[in-house]
This record gives sequence, C-alpha cells and structure tokens, in this order.
Amino acid sequence: MSKTKQDSIIDEDAPLPLSDEKGLLRFYYEGNRLPSPTGGFLMVLRVQPEDNGSGSILLECNSSSLRYRLNVNKATRTERTNVREMVDEGREPKCPRHVDQLLIRVKNDFLCPLCGVRFAKA
Ligand SMILES: [Zn+2]
Repeated sequence: MSKTKQDSIIDEDAPLPLSDEKGLLRFYYEGNRLPSPTGGFLMVLRVQPEDNGSGSILLECNSSSLRYRLNVNKATRTERTNVREMVDEGREPKCPRHVDQLLIRVKNDFLCPLCGVRFAKA
C-alpha cells in the first residue's frame, strides 16, 4: 500500500527547547506563573507523560505564541520511596514536588497531572 500525501501528519510547529528548565520548573512546582523567554508568560497547553517515567510540558507564550517544551525529570529513588509509603499507609499519594497536588491513577501507575511524572506503581 502506498501512502498518499493526505496520510502524512501535519507538522504542528515543533516546540522550542528552554534554556533555563531548572529555574522554570521551580516556578512551576511552586504554582507560580512561568516567565517566557520572549516576554509575557508561558501557558500550559498539555502535560505529557513519557514512556520512561519522565514528563514533558507543552507551553505557549501568551505574547509571542511561540511554543516551548519543558522536560520534567523522572522520579528520584527518594521520591518513589516517599510515594510508595503514602500508598502503603493507605493515604492518598501526593506529588513530592507540587504542594498539595494529589497523584492520579492511570492504568497501573500513579502520576502527577501537573508534572506528567510517574511516581509509583499502583
Ligand atoms: Zn507534580
């Protein structure tokens, strides 16, 4: 079967990388607005869990409309242990990075809806 032009995915502008991911993540975890490199603020368009347990966040600048991708590190051993303890103690597991953000259960994993990071097996 030959593929026609119509089958090809429309190239939605690939998001740009961000230079100060650490600084932005700190703002993000604290629930603050994210300053955009081009001025204005970055709005969250989508939180995407990655296969390896990390997350990525698609952002759009509200002044330039440029899109950026913010990579979120996967869970550390300590974070995983902490979340595991909450689950084992029958408490609702919370994101170790976000304040008062409950993890959601997706299939067999607990992940943070704001980080996209997988913190424990359900
Ligand atoms: Zn989180």
